[in-house]
Amino acid sequence: MKKTIITNAIVFTVDPNNTVIRNGTLIIEDGKISAIGRKEAIALPADADEIIDGHGTMAVLPGLIDTHNHSSLMRGVAEDMRLVEWLPIYDLEHKACNPDDAYHAARLTYLECLKNGTTTIMDMYRFMDRSAEAAGELGLRVHLAPYAADIEPYTFFESTQSNMQLLNRYHMSQDGRVRVWMGLENLYYCSKAMYDAALIAQREYGVGIHTHGCEQREEEESIIQMFGMSTIDMLEQRGILGEKTLLAHCVWVNDDDIKKMAATGTNLAHCATSAAKLGCGIAPIPKMLAEGVNVSIGSDGMIDNNSLDLFQEMKFGSLIQKASHCDASLMSAPQMLRMATINGAKSLGMDREIGSLELGKSADLIMVDTFVPNLHPIFWDETEQTNLLWNLIFAAKGENVDTVMVEGNILMRHRKLTQASESDIILGAQDQGDDWMKRREAYK
Ligand SMILES: [Zn+2]
Repeated sequence: MKKTIITNAIVFTVDPNNTVIRNGTLIIEDGKISAIGRKEAIALPADADEIIDGHGTMAVLPGLIDTHNHSSLMRGVAEDMRLVEWLPIYDLEHKACNPDDAYHAARLTYLECLKNGTTTIMDMYRFMDRSAEAAGELGLRVHLAPYAADIEPYTFFESTQSNMQLLNRYHMSQDGRVRVWMGLENLYYCSKAMYDAALIAQREYGVGIHTHGCEQREEEESIIQMFGMSTIDMLEQRGILGEKTLLAHCVWVNDDDIKKMAATGTNLAHCATSAAKLGCGIAPIPKMLAEGVNVSIGSDGMIDNNSLDLFQEMKFGSLIQKASHCDASLMSAPQMLRMATINGAKSLGMDREIGSLELGKSADLIMVDTFVPNLHPIFWDETEQTNLLWNLIFAAKGENVDTVMVEGNILMRHRKLTQASESDIILGAQDQGDDWMKRREAYK
């Protein structure tokens, strides 16, 4: 049994009380946290395989959880366009996409996420057997929800059948780090039969359903015209609202929609940067939180965002609400950190396993080097409260992450990958991207 000790570290547990331990120790046995607390309260076992000394400057946080991402190699290629103009450009990528594209897209995406402290990703993409392969190489946790559609002209996406094949072959693979959900593009792309099939799979396999909704005003208005009701009402009618459903976006939701999401326990992947970039607007997150909706954070992928850094997402997601409501009390640092960690775990049905640093949970954690100009100075008061939490949310960048651990395995140490070659991934992505861009031209 492998035993690792992390000591002399500032531990942000994100437990129910948001406990911060100024000089903390964690003991990790067989991938799980077997002890956590103040250094003086924990006897260090003599038989540890490794002792990581935080030297009083390393902050330990739960690994960040990106609950809505799309692997891609298309960064900076569909800019300054609103969602309705942007979507046909996005479709070019998919019309030309082959399994090798999907593989290199997943490798580059997961690499960037890992380097920015993200340990779990919900990825919605294509040919996701190749995403599972990439996840295995890098060692992080990935939930796979294929982009599935069956309404013309969107049948070039994945199907219920390919989703089921993926589920049967890859769900709980890589020691449970890779999990498969049912993916549904949205109400325009998917027939009622697809929602029914997703529900059957959800019941049979206990997996979740991931889909998009209410992203742009025109889209929501046309759903209301087409179906005579809102997206949320339609999803309710199709039976998919519930604790095992994760909706991305929900920018254009009304008060009733929000109440329904809260009452059914439907989870939200909030993609603040993507909604801003694509001119969609600002989701009513403070209202959703007040109603009790579980809100987590998604990057929405490189073509939508353009970066995959949840530290940026936490800052932007907070500031855009403070600014738009003229209310600086909204979306505090502790709340943002919960959204990027434990709320994400809950969105994926994994809050008993990951999302906070507590006894018995999996050692999915990141170590942030605080001995850098952008995180100093650090102050403590007599109740052990620290400004470092605000520094981490509003001043830190993914680049400040020094070490990343998933299930007790170190995947990045001092910013170097331990299991894969970063340059190999970048060079492979460049070659594949050049080729993909050429093939994509044929569909213009
Ligand atoms: Zn999306």
